[in-house]
Amino acid sequence: MSISIIGKSIGESVTLKINEIAAILKAKGEPVIHLGGGEPKTKSPIDAIISTTALLNSAEIRYTPVAGTVEMKKAVIRYTEEFYNRKVETGNVIVSSGAKQVIMVCLQAILNPQDEVIFPLPFYVSYPEMIKLCGAIPVPALSKEGSFYPRLKDIETKVTSYTKAIIINSPNNPTGAMYSEQFIAEIVEFCEKKGLYLLMDDIYHRLIFDGKKLISSYDYAKDLGENSKLIVINGVSKQYAMTGFRVGWAVANKKLIKVMSNIQGHQTAGPSVILQKAAAGAINGIQSQVESLRLTLENNRNVMMQQLNAFEGVKITKPDGTFYCFADFSVYGKDSTKMSNLLIEKVRVATVPGIEFGMEGYLRLSTCGSIKDIIEGVKRIKWALDPNSPNELYIGERKLVRDWI
Ligand code: PMP
Repeated sequence: MSISIIGKSIGESVTLKINEIAAILKAKGEPVIHLGGGEPKTKSPIDAIISTTALLNSAEIRYTPVAGTVEMKKAVIRYTEEFYNRKVETGNVIVSSGAKQVIMVCLQAILNPQDEVIFPLPFYVSYPEMIKLCGAIPVPALSKEGSFYPRLKDIETKVTSYTKAIIINSPNNPTGAMYSEQFIAEIVEFCEKKGLYLLMDDIYHRLIFDGKKLISSYDYAKDLGENSKLIVINGVSKQYAMTGFRVGWAVANKKLIKVMSNIQGHQTAGPSVILQKAAAGAINGIQSQVESLRLTLENNRNVMMQQLNAFEGVKITKPDGTFYCFADFSVYGKDSTKMSNLLIEKVRVATVPGIEFGMEGYLRLSTCGSIKDIIEGVKRIKWALDPNSPNELYIGERKLVRDWI
């Protein structure tokens, strides 16, 4: 079979694969603890559901304008004003089927083959593959050993004459690290000076802890005119627990938005009208659910910290936000895929191997589940990996005997 060079270079989305394996095992009645997931378990906001149902009941479900419905664009404009303190116009907004699609369309709009895109390591699994889909080259930038907080010089040293863009994701998937205001200011200034595109993937920006305040990259930009290369990405998936609705957006200069719309127009056309209705409903509706999700996640993060702190051998950096914890399990083995496979196979705990985010010896543990899941999940991991734990473990009625270490 003849497959394209790009097609051959693209790996499977391991995070989605893990969800699939966990779902199959669960359906078979296996006692799976899912610490691999990247989606909140709370219900979607009622305002999203009400507005969607009303449209569905009309039974008139049509195409939408390619860059999004007027209602949804207005919701994004309001959102940008409220959370970024920045006034934009409808021509500055494109709505897509998820933040994933909007990042992809944006990269297709700005990259030529051989261009390079820099992003801090560890990184969101899809960045390298999306960049490769454009025939361009992903360039991960390692921070100071062991740190999840990049410095400008870590990025600066990776810049070449081929560098076209930098992607920053803060708070970060997989580490939960929220980068400092100083770093964001420096990177905005640096990109302006060098004429580089800066994609701010802000998909977790409201899910932050310990009294941290929202950061708006616009505050540090000198040029917010029509030649600005600052692109802000956001969506409803995480903050509103609406992963299945598939709505994300970008705010950028009008020329770029027009090019992105042209591309999207031939790819998927406008996102589903039903789902945009729901997204606009969530953005325009009561916001207390976001705060309640944030509080739950902060509490879950604290429980995860307590459990992992009691687990000798595991090194952790306290996440500032998101619903992930990226823990260093390297004393138990460098091969994170092997470790993750062992955990699902032997003790039915789903985790994501660190190598998928560019770092071996780490596992990404999700705090989206219940407190019970977090406690039980870490207990099982400890039992499976730590030679000092007792040789036997009960999962419900099932007695397990550890015969692999
Ligand atoms: N960026 C990051 C950093 C993410 O973690 C995700 C989802 N896992 C996305 C973008 C994509 O989000 P969406 O569901 O809106 O496509």
